[in-house]
Amino acid sequence: MIRTKIVATMGPAVAEVATLLELFRAGVDICRLNFSHGTLDDHLLMLRKIREAAAMHDQPVGILGDLCGPKIRLGKVIEVEGKGGMPIEVGDELTLQRAPIDGANGVVSTIFPQMVDDVQIGHRVLIEDGLLRFICIEKNYNHLVLKCTDGGVLKSAKGINLPDTVVNTPAITEKDWRDADWAVENDLDYLALSFVRSAEDLSLLRQHLVNKVSDIHLIAKIEKPEAVRNIDAIIDNCDGLMVARGDLGVEMDVAQVPIIQKDLIRRCQLAGKPVIVATQMLQSMIEESSPTRAEVSDVANAIFDGTDAVMLSGETSVGKFPVQTVRTMAHIAEITEAYLATIPPKAEPQLTIKTLPLSAAMAKGVWQIVQDMELKLVCVWSQTGSTARLFSKYRMSVPIVALSSDHRALRRMALHYGVIPQEMPPPEHFNGLIAWVDNFVRGKKMAKTGDRIVIVAGLSMTAPGTVNNLVIQTVGEEVPKGDKDFPRLAHRMERG
Ligand code: PEP
Repeated sequence: MIRTKIVATMGPAVAEVATLLELFRAGVDICRLNFSHGTLDDHLLMLRKIREAAAMHDQPVGILGDLCGPKIRLGKVIEVEGKGGMPIEVGDELTLQRAPIDGANGVVSTIFPQMVDDVQIGHRVLIEDGLLRFICIEKNYNHLVLKCTDGGVLKSAKGINLPDTVVNTPAITEKDWRDADWAVENDLDYLALSFVRSAEDLSLLRQHLVNKVSDIHLIAKIEKPEAVRNIDAIIDNCDGLMVARGDLGVEMDVAQVPIIQKDLIRRCQLAGKPVIVATQMLQSMIEESSPTRAEVSDVANAIFDGTDAVMLSGETSVGKFPVQTVRTMAHIAEITEAYLATIPPKAEPQLTIKTLPLSAAMAKGVWQIVQDMELKLVCVWSQTGSTARLFSKYRMSVPIVALSSDHRALRRMALHYGVIPQEMPPPEHFNGLIAWVDNFVRGKKMAKTGDRIVIVAGLSMTAPGTVNNLVIQTVGEEVPKGDKDFPRLAHRMERG
């Protein structure tokens, strides 16, 4: 089983339960519902199929809803016959007006009319991930005049990026609020917010979710220069990051993307939070049955950088080879991880987290034990998943089996590198936990009699991160009967 987690975007290419089950068996851990496409009815249909397939799979599958955020899009563009849209050539002028219009004859509008106020003369206006590029050369109250520097075909609803402009869009749109409520009603596990600019954007969403008594974990999509500038506060305020390289490579100099990727992964490592590297990882497999060499290197390098997860977008949502793409990604991860296992770590992984001191200290201690002894695996009782998350950040050379009785926590743990989530009824006492784990690892052939494993749990579980008990168990050795107190675990909603 590979340690790197795979996030797959849902879409028509994988809309059958049988295909979804194949995807899960090929290595998908998290399904991404992208609210930028389709209706909530479409997503509900897909969600039901995901859950049906997940029920037949032997590992928890998490579900991530991806909110569009304040993405500015072109309005309708009338197609010039036979051209697939409105052709624009270098040097052409395009009028972008405040009042909505069906775009024709070099005049268009957007879904965000206030853009006409925000864009200044000299600012760049990039359309369709920067495929078409313009400079603003004139403005008045009613419209902007843009001069084309890279031509192409303008099409309805394509995304607009404004890398030079401070845009006064709300951080969360009306559609986002509706989609977020839907995600809560349908018990999604993660909610990603696009175009995050500051920690306050996440606080707004978090407060809304708290009001709805939801503990969906928030992923901040980093795709704007403002987000890169405010990254520490953003990391403090979210439960994980996505390196959203598609828009990031348009909003910023594309040559900066690999550097930002490494920096964000390093910061998430220090903060003990998960990170997903996204977009164009195996892009050519949308059309082809095998990847380019550069794509293979990209996936492997994201794993070398220390990412928790790698993401597929169009490759699985609309691609011709969704299952094969996941298999390819899993194979790259397998080979990369096997290579990593042969390199002794240069130094102990560093975490600078301020919360969960007991779990953090335990994770550090267990990492050292794993270095010093021959062990098969580490088992950690992690009811909320917080302790499993910290253990994951130590990228131990053995698997981490994370136990919980909370299905939501188990599904969330599907995102953490090296963590195998496993349901277990709350143990009555610590020795009961040891006996259960001993039996389980032998039954699953994860370890055999005589192998050594580490088992970690808290004697008191009234708060998250109260892990304070550790044994090195020789598998098959008799476990004393339940004497130590191990209070029954209450189902709690908490965040470390
Ligand atoms: C991205 O821009 O890389 C991304 C993941 O976001 P989206 O797919 O919503 O454009």
